[in-house]
Amino acid sequence: MSKPTRETNRFGNDVVTSIPSDAALADKPGHKLRTSNTIVDRTVEVEGSSVGAPAAAEQLLDSTKLKKLEGQEIKFYKEAGQVGVVRVDPTWKTDDQIPNLFTGPSYRNKHERFRFDGHKMMHHLDRIAAWQKGEKFAPIHIDMGLTKFCNTACLYCYAVVQNMTRGTMIEREALLRYIEDCGKLGVRSIGFIGDGEPTLNPAVYDATVLARKLGVDTSMATNGLLFDMDRAHDMLRDMTWIRFNLSAGERDGFQRVHQSKASNFDELVEKIRALVKIKKDNGYKCTIGLQMVLIPECYDQVIKEAQLGAELGVDYFVIKQCSDSEYKEIGIDYKDYLSIADVLKEAETYSNENYVVQAKWDKIMAGGETPLYKDGYRKYDQCHGTPFLLQVSGNGKIYPCGPFFNKERFYIGDIHDQSFFDIVMGDRYWEVHNDVVNSVDVHKDCAVGCRQDYVNKFLWDLKSPPEHINFI
Ligand code: SF4
Repeated sequence: MSKPTRETNRFGNDVVTSIPSDAALADKPGHKLRTSNTIVDRTVEVEGSSVGAPAAAEQLLDSTKLKKLEGQEIKFYKEAGQVGVVRVDPTWKTDDQIPNLFTGPSYRNKHERFRFDGHKMMHHLDRIAAWQKGEKFAPIHIDMGLTKFCNTACLYCYAVVQNMTRGTMIEREALLRYIEDCGKLGVRSIGFIGDGEPTLNPAVYDATVLARKLGVDTSMATNGLLFDMDRAHDMLRDMTWIRFNLSAGERDGFQRVHQSKASNFDELVEKIRALVKIKKDNGYKCTIGLQMVLIPECYDQVIKEAQLGAELGVDYFVIKQCSDSEYKEIGIDYKDYLSIADVLKEAETYSNENYVVQAKWDKIMAGGETPLYKDGYRKYDQCHGTPFLLQVSGNGKIYPCGPFFNKERFYIGDIHDQSFFDIVMGDRYWEVHNDVVNSVDVHKDCAVGCRQDYVNKFLWDLKSPPEHINFI
């Protein structure tokens, strides 16, 4: 059992963030709250009550034929002329009989603090209410590419099925205007994630600084090789998190999975180490993490990368499934993931107070059964998530989701041609989202493990209430 640690939560109150050693648990139930019930006065113990002691207690034990659990002590107490039995656990203490300080959510947050395998929709109830009322509302989060090309050729890359075009990127002026519109609309976060490598667009740094000024959180998933260290302070100060797409823990694996030079592995590792140091030296809050996209070619790298992350001092190492297209163009066999559960569990044991290692179980194990899938079949029937979590392509074109990039039926607009504010408030935007809800068969038209999965399941549950909802 973990040792209780005292910390301060976000409201400034003291909390216990792990299970206190004296907490009531399944094998040691009970509570310590004092109520108005009559409490048996345990000072009136039958003489020699403890088991093993002679006299009255021994006789009582014999006559009642009580069964003693291992390690237990049995005591007898007199109250109002009757004798009662109390089974005493040897671990109980009497000197700290204080109210239970176990704070469930804080405890659970400790290792789940990033919620990699889930969603955070309940923290945006205003947007959910707007959706329920049929109003127009801004996305909570946008995943967007900044380019449509890359400097590596990772084996698992989804972008290869999204018409990559060398040199194509969102123009600086359009990007900054779009960021301003996001601020005006109340978009809460933007992840420079998807399509090509974001650091190939030199405007990524200024876009980040501008977004912070406007109150929009930003993040980035990058292969890190071209990360401009001259802008490290800007990024670590103004970005909420930076994630390195690294699916290897050593040079050989890196060459194999990323199809890149072994020397690039060394360079990347040193860059991450330097960023962690800058962050710590300057007290920047930016979370720095590693992400592995799991494919059979990197199964042998899982533990090595978990160790590497701990050694580098990053905040987390997350392992996710490889998303395939609906035509299985990358060739992922979800059933094959079922064989690697033990390795993933072992990797998670490398977590510590300051370092989270976590697999996205609900998606990786989609070939079995999870809260989201059974045998790769979704546990929801409609996609309502796209207006909450929008995706924008690295050429500036807007579609409801990444897997639908380049599908003209779902094309919404282009941030080079139109203000993003007008796009979101316009009719075409909502026509397309409604088309997704009404026409897309998520079981046939969509590939396993799309980005909106967790959000979709949550919204589906909200839209499809069980009976007797008032009996909460
Ligand atoms: S369920 Fe289908 S339409 Fe909806 S976001 Fe996922 S891939 Fe796109």
